[in-house]
This record gives sequence, structure tokens and C-alpha cells, in this order.
Amino acid sequence: MYIGGRWVDADGGGRFESDNPYTGKPWALIPRGNAADVDRAVQAARTAFTAGDWPKLNASRRGVLLRTLGDLVTEKSKALAEIEVRDNGKLYAEMSGQTAYMAPWLHYYAGLADKIEGSVIPVDKPDMFNYTRSEPLGVVAAIVPWNSPLLLATWKLAPALAAGNTVVIKPSEYTSASVLEFMKLIEDAGFPPGVVNVVTGFGAQVGMPLVEHPLVAKVAFTGSDATGQRIYEAAARGLKRVTMELGGKSPNIVFDDADLDNAVKGVVSGILAATGQTCVAGSRLLVQQSVHDEFVEKLIAFVKTARMGDPMSLETQVGPIANKAQLEKILKYIDIARSEHATLALGGTRASRPECGDGWFVEPTIFTGVKNSMRIAQEEVFGPVLSIMPFKDEEEAVAIGNDVVYGLAAGVWTQNIRRALTMADRLQAGTVWVNTYRANSYMSPFGGYKRSGFGREGGKDMIAEYLQTKSVWISTSTDVPNPFIQR
Ligand code: NAD
Repeated sequence: MYIGGRWVDADGGGRFESDNPYTGKPWALIPRGNAADVDRAVQAARTAFTAGDWPKLNASRRGVLLRTLGDLVTEKSKALAEIEVRDNGKLYAEMSGQTAYMAPWLHYYAGLADKIEGSVIPVDKPDMFNYTRSEPLGVVAAIVPWNSPLLLATWKLAPALAAGNTVVIKPSEYTSASVLEFMKLIEDAGFPPGVVNVVTGFGAQVGMPLVEHPLVAKVAFTGSDATGQRIYEAAARGLKRVTMELGGKSPNIVFDDADLDNAVKGVVSGILAATGQTCVAGSRLLVQQSVHDEFVEKLIAFVKTARMGDPMSLETQVGPIANKAQLEKILKYIDIARSEHATLALGGTRASRPECGDGWFVEPTIFTGVKNSMRIAQEEVFGPVLSIMPFKDEEEAVAIGNDVVYGLAAGVWTQNIRRALTMADRLQAGTVWVNTYRANSYMSPFGGYKRSGFGREGGKDMIAEYLQTKSVWISTSTDVPNPFIQR
């Protein structure tokens, strides 16, 4: 692990195996951190925040360090992507895109580092000079899931460091290797010791002690809503700031006036990209009744052509499931959908194609005749399982689309601009895509409504999530007036 600028073993020397989902076999040994390691890392981060070179650096120099880090990531992005593929089984084509896209995030927030300003307020009190300062919070805990380990860590790291905080990252126990490798670049970029630290291990032994540590000022979490709720409760006991990027059950809504061939591709990118293991998965497909049967037929024909297999191959379109527990969870949800009498239109089993070997693959699965009250329509599966529901008109599409506890994203397929704008207004989701799906940029805010979380990542304003405001009052009077009344 990387703590206080040094490479260290876990307290007690424990390790655990990390598996390759394509082979189903272990490929790496990861230090098994515990509360003592968390304490070491948080103390190192706190010391780096209050003393040493980091607090002395001016904001432009912080930006230079982040920019250098972005440049180093660009050089190493392919190697980092390979590690991620081995750890979580997502396609190399997708992960190399993600690791390459870390640099723009780092460069964007590098540019913002020296544009954090306060203001002078012409207060209504005579003889008073009042100004504000935007100051960093202190130690930020960044807890990330397994589906996009480095990119999601970067979404937190870049603004947190630009704002002058220090960070302790806790990667998922399923995908720790790439974050550890990334620390070599933090070291090479020249960040002072303790500014960025990594403690690997499990949620209960590392994640929770990190959230509960009294010297942690803020928890930036991405993961499931169940874990998010536990973390939120623990953070509340310490009155800590939190941002929550949680799960979703996003509707992808196809109207009869849409370009149906494009919409098919949009639906596929919503549910088969990353084998459905994305927070924004468009796992509920709503199709207007008048084109329902035609659209479902086109969709099934397209999905049948999807090539499964080795995620490192650029030919592969659908990779394995990231871990065994997730594989079992997906198969369980397929059983639940069957028992709820949804109609299985495609797939529905573990994949036994020769190109899937011993890997953890699930056949792309489509259920029709789904009712929005069914568990398969309400709960996050996080796999290649699509639930299709018909709707009559806009009113019903909005009603079904919003009738879920989540609100992360929504897709709308229409060529009618009035309809596009109306739907974008009415859908309760942090992101609405029209005639596209899964677009994302460091320049645009991303985050959830409802149980999908709060706080935003991306965009210039969200740097405020890593800052606090101080108001400074200076009297310009030669006198201190009546001390018994408030001025
Ligand atoms: P998870 O909630 O199981 O784990 C996420 C992280 O929290 C891991 O590092 C884990 O070790 C840690 N953790 C687990 N229990 C903990 C505890 N009690 N205290 C502290 N930390 C704990 O999620 P996952 O299975 O790794 O990831 C999948 C989930 O992440 C899905 O729900 C998905 O939608 C969500 N996700 C959301 C976004 C987003 O931006 N909104 C992005 C990607 C994934």
C-alpha cells in the first residue's frame, strides 16, 4: 500500500487474492489493510495537510503537479487499462478509453486550482472590511467501486487536490491493483509524501474505519445505495461532509417517432456496454406501444450478433461479469424475473460459449412483458439484463420512468424537439440523454436524484464540494464600540 509516501505492507502482513474474471483464477495478491493501516494513512494525510510542502505550495504549483500527473497518466494509460481489464473483466476497448480520459480530468482541475477565489463583500456595517476565503476541508476519504476503479478515483482526486486537500483512497477489494500502480505516477509527479495515500482491503475492515476516523473531514463515495446509506449514517455521527454517487435503475425511453435503428444501438449501449455493470445502465426499456413489437424484434436481432469472449480482444463486445458474487447475483435476478412471470425473450443463463472458457459470463438477457412493480424493474441488477415495458403516451412514459427509488440517468429517443425538451424537464434524473446514451465529460456535472445520491462530480462548480468558506471581518474604525451589543 502507499502511505505517507512509502510503499508498505498491511499491518500484520495479511494479503488476499484478486481474481481475473475471464479465467476465473487469481492473478494478484493485495495487502489486506485494517483499522491500524487506516489510522496510519489518515495521520499521514493530516500531517501533509497541516505541515510540510503541500500547504506551502501556491495554487498554481498545485495545478502544475496535477498537470504533470495527467501527462504521466497519458504515457501509462494502456498499461493501467490492461491491469483494470485483468481485475474487473471490462473490455480493453472501454478501459483504455477510460484511462486515457483520466488526463483531461486531471488537466481540467489543474487549470481550476488557481482560480479558486473569495470575494470582498460591501457589507451593510460601517467601518468594516469583509472578505471570504475558499479553503480546503482537510483529509478526504475517497471510496470507490470495482466497475471503473481509476476513473472514479480520479473524479474525486482531481478536484480534491486542486482545492488543496489531502486524500486517502480505498479501492474496491475486487480491483485494487490499478490504483496501486497509479500511485507510482503520484510519486513520479512529485506530490509531497502523505498528500495521496491508498489503503487496500475490505469494506468493514478498511472502508468503515476510514469513514469513522475523526481526522477525516469528507467522504466522497461511489458505490451501491445500501453501502452509501451505511456510510452516510456513520459520517453523520462525525458530522462529516459526504458526496454520494450511488446506483440506478435508469429508464431508456423509445418513442414511435425515433430513428429506431439508432435507438437500438442506444439501448444496447445502455445495457450491454460494460456488460451492464455501470451505474447508468439503461436497465428499464420503455417502448411506445405502436412500435413495441417491431422494436423488440430489431433489438433481439442486434443483440444476437454481440460477440462475447476475451475482454482484451478488440473484437469482443460483451465481456465477463467482474466477480463471482456479482455473477451469482445476476443469475438470482434472472430467476426472480422468471418467478414474477416476466417473459424471457433472450438469454437467461450463464454463458457456455467456447469463447467464454471458464470465465464468469452471462448471456445477454431480455425480458418482455415486465410490469414496473416487479423486482426486476425496481432493483439494480448490475448486469446484462434488460426489462422491457410498453407505454401509451408521454404521460405514461414519465409516470413509469419516474416510478422508481433511483434517479441517476434517463434516455429519450425521439425526433420531436418539443417532446425531447418536455421529457428532459419531467424526468427525475441527474442526467438526461436525448438520442444518445452514456455521454460524459469532465466539464459537465454528473450525479443522482433520489436514492442515486447527491453531490456532483464534473464541471467547474463542483470544486466547491471540496472547499469551505471563511468570512473575515476587519474593523477599520479607530474605536471598539459598545461591547454589550452585537454590531
Ligand atoms: P459497494 O457499495 O459494494 O462497494 C463500493 C465500495 O465501498 C468498495 O470499495 C467497498 O469495499 C466499500 N464498502 C463496502 N462496504 C463498506 C462499508 N460498510 N463501509 C465503508 N466502505 C464499504 O459497490 P460495488 O459493488 O463495488 O459497486 C457497484 C455499485 O456502485 C452499483 O450500485 C453501482 O450503481 C454503483 N456505482 C455508482 C456510480 C455513480 O457514479 N453513481 C458509478 C459506478 C458505480
